Amino acid sequence: MDSPQRDPDCIFCKIVAGEIPATKVLEDDQVLAFMDIGPVAQGHVLLIPKHHYERIDEMPPARAGAVLSQLPAIVAAAGLATGAAGVNVLQNNGRIAGQLVPHVHFHIIPRLPGGAFRFNWPAGEYPEGRMDELAGLIRQNIEKEAKTK
Ligand code: AMP
Ligand code: ZN
Repeated sequence: MDSPQRDPDCIFCKIVAGEIPATKVLEDDQVLAFMDIGPVAQGHVLLIPKHHYERIDEMPPARAGAVLSQLPAIVAAAGLATGAAGVNVLQNNGRIAGQLVPHVHFHIIPRLPGGAFRFNWPAGEYPEGRMDELAGLIRQNIEKEAKTK
C-alpha cells in the first residue's frame, strides 16, 4: 500500500504507525482491527482504515470497500470467540452521532444475553409526502456525490 495518510494528533493513526500499543486481531495493507480498550461488550473490536479519514463520507469508495471486505470475517470471528449469537456493527460519524475518535472506525459488538449494551430505537412515522420528498433529495445527493468521488 501507499504509506497511510495520517493526522499527527490522531490516536488511531498512532496505533497504525505502532507508536502506541493495541491488541491487534487482523491487519492487511489497508486495514487494521484491534480490541476496543473500553469494551461495551466482551469481544468488542474496532475495524479501521489505515489511512486517516475522519468520517466515512470522506472516504473514496475503494478504500471504504477495502474496510468492508474484512467485516464479514471479523463479525463471524467475534461471534464465535464469545459465543454470541448476534453481533452489532456500529459506525459513528460526527460528535452528534456519538463519534469521539475522529478517525473512521466500525464497532463490532457481540451481543450476549444479559449484556449491558442497549440502544434506543425510536421508530417514528412521516407526515404525508415527507418520505418521498426526502428520498428524492437523497437520490439527488447520491448522484452529486458519485460525481465527486
Ligand atoms: P466512538 O465514540 O465511536 O468515536 O468510539 C471510539 C472508541 O475508541 C471507544 O469505544 C473507545 O473505547 C475506543 N478507543 C479509544 N482509544 C483507544 C485505544 N487506544 N485503543 C483501543 N480502543 C480505543
Ligand atoms: Zn487517524
